[in-house]
Amino acid sequence: MGRVPRKADERESPNRRFFAFAGMPFPCQLEPAVKTIFEKIRDGEIPSDVIHRDELCFAFRDISPQAPVHILVVPNKVIPRVGEATAEDQTVLGHLLLTAAKVAADLGIAESGYRVVINNGPHGGETVPHIHVHLLGGRPLTWPPG
Ligand code: 5GP
Repeated sequence: MGRVPRKADERESPNRRFFAFAGMPFPCQLEPAVKTIFEKIRDGEIPSDVIHRDELCFAFRDISPQAPVHILVVPNKVIPRVGEATAEDQTVLGHLLLTAAKVAADLGIAESGYRVVINNGPHGGETVPHIHVHLLGGRPLTWPPG
């Protein structure tokens, strides 16, 4: 008996590689059965210092700031990570960057400068599978990152 053929998208999905790397079973759901911590913040189920909300995204202070300004900009829609985004997500992905720039200006770090970061997958340092832009500033930031 040969292998049961899988659908091409299941066999090739970057999600499959991510979960295999993390030692987790596949198939998995693109949107987990339980809410991500950021969905709970979005829905007001856990407290957070939310400083921006609009129809596509929200932004709040990171609980463990790595710089004087450390904001997370998160889409209302759960896109797990850059590797799982689709063409349909183009508008929201662009909106995250424009919102990060607006928040930076609102917080007075546009002139001094800042960094925007998206961690993707295990080696990227991603810990929450709900795409988010880190906005870091308020001090000089070194390069390369650790
Ligand atoms: P990642 O490591 O996935 O790129 O970033 C996740 C970020 O979420 C981390 O910087 C972490 O400090 C932040 N974070 C995790 N849980 C919470 C929380 O409950 N509240 C807030 N405000 N930030 C959180």
